[in-house]
Amino acid sequence: MRQEYTLFKSRISKLKIGSEVINSAIKVGNHTIGQGQFSIIAGPCAVESKTQINVISQLVKQQGAHLLRAGAFKPRTSPYSFQGLGLEGLQLLKQVKETFNIPIVTEMMNEKEYDIFEEIVDLIQIGSRNMQNFDLLKKVGQGSKPVMLKRGLNATLEEFLLAAEYIVANGNRNIILCERGIRSYDNVTRNVLDLSAVAILKQVTNCPVIVDPSHATGITEIIPTMSLAAKSTGADGIMVEVHHNVKAALSDADQALSPSVFAQLAKAVA
Ligand code: PEP
Ligand code: MN
Repeated sequence: MRQEYTLFKSRISKLKIGSEVINSAIKVGNHTIGQGQFSIIAGPCAVESKTQINVISQLVKQQGAHLLRAGAFKPRTSPYSFQGLGLEGLQLLKQVKETFNIPIVTEMMNEKEYDIFEEIVDLIQIGSRNMQNFDLLKKVGQGSKPVMLKRGLNATLEEFLLAAEYIVANGNRNIILCERGIRSYDNVTRNVLDLSAVAILKQVTNCPVIVDPSHATGITEIIPTMSLAAKSTGADGIMVEVHHNVKAALSDADQALSPSVFAQLAKAVA
């Protein structure tokens, strides 16, 4: 066996993240992620308005999504890009969660907001850019809310798992790992979807693993194919961006699936 892989496996097996203490089935609102069920998480990149989030929540729920995703706090590369609606966005998520009876996953960027996230959100997302924000990891680790940790843009698998270990070391055992692509020299795709990482994460941890082909590829045409590939690799689900008016999306319009493409995709992976 490849020596680097053998050594990596041996180091990970000594961590809590590589042991049985990790939950392999995680209750997120009225849905369980893991345990052989393939989960579909869908929604817009960002909450943009009351109408937008209502329309999209209703349509993804009708078409088979188990969880709604939508950012209220957005980590944007440029300070001049739409930054999200913040607390107002969270309140809109609370309302659609109740109206459509669908659990919510949304990104937390600042530990000061933990209490409001704990109250409203079913699954706290730690984004790629914050994968090594250790104060944030400790904060979500001290709580019991499930956490979805996204792989850093340039993170090795070991760095990814050590970041997850911060959460477990602080007491939280409800961790979902999300492969969202890593940077490479080729910019045709936004990132490179590392499906071998998914297979390895399933080997060395008990954590459910979600694949985000939207941020991994940035190309709507190949998102359905990559979703099916993710399922064959043993992933526990996918997270995809969907918008009812793709061209008008305030962030990540290039990778948003139209409602009809999402409907076909949801059927294909179900
Ligand atoms: C997101 O899922 O909303 C997001 C910003 O993704 P990432 O952190 O993977 O870039
Ligand atoms: Mn996005």
